[in-house]
Amino acid sequence: MSEMKTRLFINGSYVEGEGKVEAAFEPALGRPLAEIASASDAQIDQAVLAADAAYRSWSKTTPRERSAALLAIAATIEAKADQLAGIESRNAGKPLRFVKAGELANVADVFRFYGTAVRNVPAPAAGNYRSSTRTSLVRRDPIGVIAQIAPWNYPLLMAAWKIAPAIAAGNAVVIKPSEMTPLSLLALSEIFADILPPGVVNVICGNGPEVGNRLISHDLVRMISLTGDVRTGRAVLQAAAGNTIKRTHLELGGKAPVIVCNDADLDKVVETLREASFYNAGQDCTAACRLLVHKDIARDLTDRLETMIGSLVYGRPERDDVEFGPVISQRQLERVDGFVSRARSAGFEVMQGAAPDSGGYFFSPTLVAAPIEAEIVQKEVFGPVLSITPFDDAQQAVDWANASEYGLGSSVWSRDGSQAMAIANALEYGVTWVNTHGVMATEMPHGGMKNSGYGSDLSMQSLIDYTQIRHIMVE
Ligand code: NAD
Repeated sequence: MSEMKTRLFINGSYVEGEGKVEAAFEPALGRPLAEIASASDAQIDQAVLAADAAYRSWSKTTPRERSAALLAIAATIEAKADQLAGIESRNAGKPLRFVKAGELANVADVFRFYGTAVRNVPAPAAGNYRSSTRTSLVRRDPIGVIAQIAPWNYPLLMAAWKIAPAIAAGNAVVIKPSEMTPLSLLALSEIFADILPPGVVNVICGNGPEVGNRLISHDLVRMISLTGDVRTGRAVLQAAAGNTIKRTHLELGGKAPVIVCNDADLDKVVETLREASFYNAGQDCTAACRLLVHKDIARDLTDRLETMIGSLVYGRPERDDVEFGPVISQRQLERVDGFVSRARSAGFEVMQGAAPDSGGYFFSPTLVAAPIEAEIVQKEVFGPVLSITPFDDAQQAVDWANASEYGLGSSVWSRDGSQAMAIANALEYGVTWVNTHGVMATEMPHGGMKNSGYGSDLSMQSLIDYTQIRHIMVE
């Protein structure tokens, strides 16, 4: 894994792309890191056909055999974690120390979890429902070829969330990483080449509207799984209703409300938001980005957050002391800056941390005090930006939170357990944390409601999502 892999991974081999050449950047330096030739139409077909052929035999393997492969992948990821982390850090602009210690460990854990989960799928019951001579039983079978489309914010982790449950269940996949961050998944494919039969996992590169769209529209694809934007989710739903009917699994955007009641532990709120709002430069679909705070404590919390933001350390990802790095691209930098400039022009109070390292796509950590209807409170910024809005009572906070088009992550902060539970129960969000924010467990489902999509990542539920339920009745 010494040299950077820039070729596609199809049917167990690395092949040079025959399509348009795209540059993958190093966001901390603002310059290209590698050039990757996209998959041509013929290569997309080859990848899907390879997956379809591999599915015929992979789906016949036992859970024990698939488990052995996933556990071997997990162990090899751990052995090669430093190399993979180095690539991920450079291409996605993430602090190297966090990628090494956190994200790579989670990538390995996801493969290990599904390596054990697939041997423990709850056995469906058999029974006689129509007469004593007719025995019914339920099977859970794999679906077939799964097209998977991954985003740039956690390139390797999101790929792991998709690939591990899909192949554990006996499917074969063709996955397209984001055109901005393909390098870590191409490197990981070397491990797939050593452990999996050819064609079980195929990686094709290229942009969304051409390469991605051709992949998700392919007639042999039976399910599409996307982590990405709401707009891309609509494109997936259209592709799923084309020549063939396809299943869909959508993890779309978020705008996580953080409801802080007047009895909350404010030290803990500030300490948690330091990471939950700014990790990965806030480019996280569950980032704590929208504070709704009881009016009695709004000034106090604003002052504490301003101090915290002033002390955040950000800059070049290889530094040992940084808490976050650059945003992903010049375009993202301009987008984030646009939101903050419009908030400033609207007359809202804007508080920012220190100026960044020179060069690269750095944006200062930012806190904006704004009313609930403000654009910066309603729209997904996907940057190191936090808004704060005072509320009068808990019902108003819940109503405001639920009025969002999104429904992914949320949190509630209160020392009163019954108040916290009442608010948590009333929130229309797929994930709600109480007195913490953003903590994931591989065993627990992660997914959204409303425009944030549907279907679960992680947990036994994701394995189930990648299976087809069948009824067999024996007379
Ligand atoms: P994006 O939708 O622009 O891109 C995601 C992927 O979709 C990329 O690989 C892209 O090439 C592909 N794509 C784009 N158009 C396509 C099309 N027409 N057909 C097929 N593929 C297409 O999103 P992004 O900018 O990479 O990621 C950021 C978004 O993802 C944010 O909105 C964020 O909230 C969301 N996200 C959600 C989760 C979650 O778990 N819900 C996790 C991470 C990111």
